[in-house]
Amino acid sequence: MIVDRKLIEKAKEKLGNQNAFIMAELLELEDFDEKNLKSCCPYHDEDTPSFIYNPKNYSMHCFSCNKTVDIIDVLMGKGRTFLESVQFLFDKAGIECSFGEQNVKTKHNYRYPHEEPINDKPNVVDYFGKRGISKNVLDYLDVREDNHGNAVFNFYDTNDVLTMVKYRPSHTVEKHSGQPKTWCQKDSDTAPLLFNMNRVNTSKPLLCTEGEIDCASAIEAGYLNTVSVPLGAGNLHWIEENWDWLDTFDDIIIWSDNDVAGEKMRKECIYRLGTWRTKYIVTPEYYEKEDGRKIPLKDINDCLQIGGKQFVMDLISAAKDVPVKSVVDYSEIEELDVSQMDGVQTGIKPLDNELGKLFYGTLTILSGRPGSGKTSLIDQAIAMTIDNGSPTFLYSKELPERLSANWFNTIIAGRRNMVEKHNSSGKKYYVVPYDTQKKMQQYYNKKLFIYKDEESNDFEAVLKSAEECVRKFGCKLIVLDNLMMLDLKCNESDKNTAQTNLINLLIKFAVKFNVTVVLIAHPRKTQDSNSDIEMYDIAGSSNIINLAMRSIGLRRVSKKEKEDPKYKWHKYDVVLTVMKDRMFGKSDVQIGLWYDLVSRRFYTDYAEYDKQFAWDDNYYIDKLEYVDRGRVDPEDEFPDK
Ligand SMILES: [Zn+2]
Repeated sequence: MIVDRKLIEKAKEKLGNQNAFIMAELLELEDFDEKNLKSCCPYHDEDTPSFIYNPKNYSMHCFSCNKTVDIIDVLMGKGRTFLESVQFLFDKAGIECSFGEQNVKTKHNYRYPHEEPINDKPNVVDYFGKRGISKNVLDYLDVREDNHGNAVFNFYDTNDVLTMVKYRPSHTVEKHSGQPKTWCQKDSDTAPLLFNMNRVNTSKPLLCTEGEIDCASAIEAGYLNTVSVPLGAGNLHWIEENWDWLDTFDDIIIWSDNDVAGEKMRKECIYRLGTWRTKYIVTPEYYEKEDGRKIPLKDINDCLQIGGKQFVMDLISAAKDVPVKSVVDYSEIEELDVSQMDGVQTGIKPLDNELGKLFYGTLTILSGRPGSGKTSLIDQAIAMTIDNGSPTFLYSKELPERLSANWFNTIIAGRRNMVEKHNSSGKKYYVVPYDTQKKMQQYYNKKLFIYKDEESNDFEAVLKSAEECVRKFGCKLIVLDNLMMLDLKCNESDKNTAQTNLINLLIKFAVKFNVTVVLIAHPRKTQDSNSDIEMYDIAGSSNIINLAMRSIGLRRVSKKEKEDPKYKWHKYDVVLTVMKDRMFGKSDVQIGLWYDLVSRRFYTDYAEYDKQFAWDDNYYIDKLEYVDRGRVDPEDEFPDK
């Protein structure tokens, strides 16, 4: 359960100076000065009192060692969980609050782990002792030892219920030994909770670390408001799982290892937890000893062992704010190392070769008349993105919700998973069988988020929903289909300005959350539907193409053009034009694409024609019948949508 922070504030307010007296009693401050509400600090050695009550925040603060504690901190320091501490506080202050969920298993169909018995833990104490972590901290974190001498980490939820149990050997695990470094309890489920989250004061900055030993190291150093992520730096499902709880914090500090995985975790967390409240700590590369020797550091435990407690505390208090990258800053970066930039791919080789990726932090415009295949191209990119591990947000008013999903189904099914049917007049058509659809749905569950049809088209509402999906679920590709359907809340006469503003907003959005945004736009209707020029003439202002990082246009090859062997693209169905690419400084690059009527896919070779998306775990030996249309003249007609 999540306790409203306002209620906690109210309780402290009600107690007033009583806060000081209760804390003094709990901390057994023998020299507590009841008139001036101060004493010698219990957290460090001193002779003159510098531990003083501050009535403004109902806390005791030490002006010598800088420690600040409120009544909740003091109670938790004495071994209570957060919920137990709040309950104590509410009892004292006479605040009514139901703690009905306390110790209640609230997850349905969840296999809760069994509790390892509390025994002596000689191996654990010995191993952690060598790494600078005391038995006190191990007891505080409820670290135990199993029958084989392994360390046992208990993950409790916010109701103090044991929900996940993790193990690791009580000795160093060599990297290439083949021995597992950590594992979860067999035959129980593994909800990605944060280690130590039930002993965290939600009114104070949360320190989020990469593993249990890092968490223990920060606590050993004296920073109790620390958690660690459950399943390594590469797994961020804890954000979604603990979303409401994380939402209660004003400040979150990320401290991951200084390796590639740690850096990636830090970056992702900053965008998803919110740049405005997330700070970060980069582990220094080395610690300089007094004799000038430089000792390399990689994580918090190194910092503790080599630099000591104060070194760790100093790093925490020096946590950096995330610089807000404005659009101007971004374009001012002169030499962008593109090979280091991440992004999403379309799965169409010549296009990916041309563009590299649709890079995170950029906006791409996709334009083309109805029927030119925009939906296919974008759905292929969506499927690729999801296959590569990133969820996608899709706003699509082009087709009704269900039809949109169906289009996607056909594309990810591919020819191998489609069944041929005939209608009453004998005409062929293809469907994805129900069982296959179910299987695909299962796979794409929580990976593709489609904006609800009945929701408002107000651009602010759409962007708000997109932001939530980016932050909560980690969406990396944002598709807005299309510009004309978005309600820009302006008069017809102000439309150009409003569109320009929207484009700038989308660019900022892409940079702020480090995601790829694709906006689909229609060209203005012109007489000559086969002109390449018209792609540049997106309904509204030409600003759109100029502002975006990249603009791509699609145009069908007409029947007449197909019959004209002198026409460069006569063997193709669609010509894709990269109209503008500010990333690589290119423009007017063209690529010919084929379109498969059955699977609704674009392809440029057999591999793309027969691409197997990740949901399809079948193994195929035989090849599909395939005609290389680059060699023979096409017979197929391009479909009317
Ligand atoms: Zn002190």
